[in-house]
This record gives sequence, C-alpha cells and structure tokens, in this order.
Amino acid sequence: MTTTMTTPGSAPALPEFHNEPYLDFTQPANRAAMEAALASVRAQLGRSYPLILAGARLHTGDQLRSVNPSRPSELIGVHEKATADLARQAVDSAHAFFPTWSATPASRRVELLLNASSILRRRKLEFDAWLVLEAGKSWNEAEADVSEAIDFCEYYARQMMKLADPIPTFQLPGERSEMVYIPLGVGIVIPPWNFPLAILAGMTVASLVAGNTVVIKPSSDTPTIAAQFASVLEEAGFPAGSFSLLVGSGAVVGDILVQHPKTRFVSFTGSREVGLRINELAAKAQPGQLWIKRVVAEMGGKDAIVVDRGVDVDDAVKGVIAAAFGYQGQKCSACSRAIVHQDVYDEFLEKLRAGVARLSVGPADEPAHAMGPVINDSAVKNILSYIETGKSEGRLVAGGGRAPGDGYFIEPTVIADIPPQARLFREEIFGPVLAVTKARDFDHALELANDSDYGLTGAAYTSDPARIDKAKKEFFVGNLYLNRKCTGAMVGVHPFGGFNMSGTDSKAGGPDYLLQFLQAKSIAEKLR
Ligand code: NAD
Repeated sequence: MTTTMTTPGSAPALPEFHNEPYLDFTQPANRAAMEAALASVRAQLGRSYPLILAGARLHTGDQLRSVNPSRPSELIGVHEKATADLARQAVDSAHAFFPTWSATPASRRVELLLNASSILRRRKLEFDAWLVLEAGKSWNEAEADVSEAIDFCEYYARQMMKLADPIPTFQLPGERSEMVYIPLGVGIVIPPWNFPLAILAGMTVASLVAGNTVVIKPSSDTPTIAAQFASVLEEAGFPAGSFSLLVGSGAVVGDILVQHPKTRFVSFTGSREVGLRINELAAKAQPGQLWIKRVVAEMGGKDAIVVDRGVDVDDAVKGVIAAAFGYQGQKCSACSRAIVHQDVYDEFLEKLRAGVARLSVGPADEPAHAMGPVINDSAVKNILSYIETGKSEGRLVAGGGRAPGDGYFIEPTVIADIPPQARLFREEIFGPVLAVTKARDFDHALELANDSDYGLTGAAYTSDPARIDKAKKEFFVGNLYLNRKCTGAMVGVHPFGGFNMSGTDSKAGGPDYLLQFLQAKSIAEKLR
C-alpha cells in the first residue's frame, strides 16, 4: 500500500501576493513628487561607479560612460569596465561563497528579498527617475518597470517558501521518501537594457533566493541602474560574497563568464543572436567542469496582433498603437506586425494613421510626450535602415524618419502592404516600426501570425467565440492575449516567456520559474 507523505509547512505566513499599484501621474501631487525625484537624480549625474567584486570596490581605469538617450550630452554615470581576469575572479569568489549562501536557511534568504522589495518601494520615484534618464522611459513606462521589479521580489519570495519544504512523494512500506529542491551553484546573470531594472532584478533575485551566488553583467547601456540596484541588495543585507556586479562589454567578459568551468548556469535575456551564442558556448564542457550547464535564455520576438472583421476597430487600433509604440517599440513583447482582415483593412489603416499622428516624440523626462528616444546611436542607424528597407517592401503610411531634437528620436512609423516574405515581416527591428499585412480571413491571419521563427507574444481581436477558441489552440506563442494588446504582462498573472527562437519559455513571474535555478534531490530512508 502507498500513502502520501505530507510535511508540515515551515513557511512564515506572508500576505497574499498583489501586484504593486502604479502611481497615477495625472495627480498633481504625484507629478510634483516625480519632478522632485528627477531633480534629485539629476544632482547625482556623472558620478563614478566602481566594479563590485564580492563586496570589494575595484577600479580598472578602463571606463564606460553612460548617457541620457534623450539628451546624449548629459552624462549619467562613469563605470569601471571589468577585465577578463576580474571576470574569472568573480566566478571563483562566487563559487567560494556558494557553500555558505546555499546553507543559509531559505526563510532568511526570503527575508532579505522582502527587505529588497521594501527598499525598492521606498526608492520607487528615484528609480523611476533613473529609468527616465538612463533608459529613455516615459514616466509611466518607468513606473511599470520599477513596479515589476517589486513584484518579482514579492512573488519569488512566496514561491521560494513553497519550494523550501520537502515535496511529498508516494511512500513505500518500510521506507520514508521525499524530494527536496537544492540550489545549483554559480549563476551568470545577463540582462538586456530595455527593462533595466525589472529584468535585471528578476533574474538576480530569483537566482539568489533559490540559494545560488551570482555574477551580474548588466547591459552597457544601463549600468547606472544596475549599480543602484546593487546598492539595494547590499542595504537589504545580501552578503558581499553572494553577488558581483561586472560592467563590461559582452564580448570581452561575456564569453569568459559563460565558459568558466565553475559556472553552473546562465540566466540570459536579450537578442536571439547573443542567446544562441551563449547556449552554444555553455554546451561545451570545459576541463575540470563537473556538470552540464543550464541555460535559461529569453530572446527576441516578432509579435503579431491579428484583427478580425466585425470588431470594434477603434479599440483594436488603440491596442495596436499602445503595443507597437509604447517605449518606442523596444519591448520583446511589442507588436511589430498587425495582420488585418481585408474587410476592415482600409478602415484600420486610416484610424491607425490618425492615431499615430497624435503621438508626440520628445525627451522622456517631459511627460507631455507619448514617446521618448531609442536607446542609442547604433539603434537609430539600425532602425532607419529597416525603415528604408520597409519603404521598398511596402507602402509608408506614417513616420519614416528621425524626429526633431538632439536625442535618439525616431518617428512612429507604419508601413502597410508588407508581404510575408519581407524582411519587415520576419526580422525583429526593436524600434517604433509597425508592419501591416492584409489577410483574406481570420484563418489566413492566424497562419500569417504563426509564420515566424519567433513565438513570444501575440494577440487576436475577434468577437467570434469559435475564432477565439481557434486562436487559443493554434496561435503558437508563449503569451497569448485576446481582445487586448500584447504588451504589459503582469507578474503572477501572465507568466512570461516564448516559444521557438524566442527562448526557453522559462515563464518569468510564474509558479515554475524558480525551478530553473534549483535541482531536485530524491531521498529514501529505510525505516528500522
Ligand atoms: P543583446 O543580446 O544585445 O544584449 C543582452 C545582454 O547580453 C547585454 O547585457 C549584453 O551586454 C550581453 N552580451 C552581449 N554579447 C555578449 C556575449 N558575447 N556574451 C555574454 N553576454 C553578452 O540584447 P539587448 O539589445 O540588450 O536587448 C534587446 C533584445 O532583448 C531584443 O532582442 C529583445 O527582444 C530581447 N528581450 C527579450 C525578452 C524576453 O523576455 N524574451 C525581454 C526583454 C528583451
């Protein structure tokens, strides 16, 4: 006979998870507070930030200068760049501290994580301001990013408490069996610049709360936000040995961190090209390496919104504009293809053109603008080159070039009549460029939406229940949205991650996410 063993939970009772509410910047008091935060952060611009290697502050003399993409002459921070040797040392010291950190009770690690969450909440407007100034996020986008970082801390704290106790298994007569989750070892955390706080914080704290030590290599475009987050971890009480922060070029230190034989896993979010390279390098066992490295790689997208006939076209246009041009289209979840039923195609395009004409582009610190800059000069060149390609592949309906100003501003651009073989239909641009394609009917639209190497987010606007059902079954994306935009995933509500070349579908902010950073050990004891 077999019975189920249950182990009494030792988790401290935490209140139920709730998403962090967003500040409403239409309220005069909140606007004034944000203006004050911007002024206070502006007074801190241009400071120098050392490398942090297991608590030690290091200077290499080789510096990286981070600037405001809205006003590139404004220096945000000066950062010491890591050397190859320091990258090796960072992994070695993370490995040396792993036995101590992994033996720290999960309840203590959770406590530190909740401290981090409280500090982020206390410094929320300040972080909003750093995101506006270093990443070019609008006030609302910055507020969503910082809120998401808080959500990750709160959510993973609760998930860790669920995984801290042994998992019940079936029991054989005369034996006591259980399964426990234990941490993996040293993790390399490599985030992108586009959610410079939320993704950096989410990947870092998930690894740490699970009992791993980490080396964080932030994006060279947003190193100041990473340095500010490191100060949160320190104030929260995470011990010096539990993490290092190595600013530096991906090419110089990235390969070394990934290939180091003591690296146990890599948690990466970024482009397909870099993700595939990391996956390949990590797959090759190095001399002295004891394990198969685990790679969690969340990569790009070419996300589509399908618009059926018989829908409220104004509502669909609103969703498409928000998803295509929010944060200048620089979200992995951004809508970069609108695939529209032929019966509503002209109406959709006309309403889209009118809506896009109302979007103003300008410095992100000025809340009047719906759109700010793209991240840097090379993004400007890349996006403009895609726009030129698009003009020959389709029909320019809106935008089509740089927007005025000193910053990296690009007009919201719509190119219609894009065929499925076009580069604009297939390649991730990561900027404010929307391709619109005509479909014969809903089935054809779904077929076109699925005609992609990627499979991250997607949305379908339709009022027909059978088509909603079909989309649920056949739209091959990790995050599907029906009759709403395809951006804005909320932690705990919409676990996030994509199929195919969009990544390993690790579902950040979901109940399985922490398992990526743990390994299960099965234990059976013969009873005497
Ligand atoms: P990127 O791939 O250029 O860089 C990502 C990170 O990798 C950065 O920190 C970079 O410094 C580092 N890096 C670069 N070369 C490296 C190397 N050889 N070894 C190790 N690290 C290296 O991407 P990005 O421009 O920062 O971000 C945009 C991309 O991220 C887009 O493709 C977007 O779709 C994707 N993204 C995906 C998700 C998701 O959840 N799927 C979320 C956000 C962004």
